[in-house]
Amino acid sequence: MSTISCVIWDCKVRDRQIVVDGQGVAMYIMSMVIEQEIISDEEIRRQKEKARRLRKSNWWMRRIQEGVCYYCYQKVGRSNLTMDHVVPLSRGGKSTKGNLVPACKDCNNKKKYLLPIEWEEYLKTLSERSHTI
Ligand SMILES: [Zn+2]
Repeated sequence: MSTISCVIWDCKVRDRQIVVDGQGVAMYIMSMVIEQEIISDEEIRRQKEKARRLRKSNWWMRRIQEGVCYYCYQKVGRSNLTMDHVVPLSRGGKSTKGNLVPACKDCNNKKKYLLPIEWEEYLKTLSERSHTI
């Protein structure tokens, strides 16, 4: 894998071929935009560490006390709740109290494997369901 540093944008472009024709240049610029949104491993590591500390805090204990999933409102018990970043770390989310919610394993897995758009759809069906109950 080749890494090209881009000084102007302060980002790295990985695995991109620079093609000199008009279309190639356009593609190269596009890939830089995408790459810029990717958060550094160091930052993710720092945020994960912060999340680990928060998981031991009284704030989190209170948060999971009811044992209810933030997304589907199901009562699954505190031992079945995982800590979830509403905005994922890989998308620039931080380990702050506002961005950390208890999620059941079902929701957590879905969130991990669904595309953001599919996840939105899932949340929509959940809220529709809770309205009909
Ligand atoms: Zn859930």
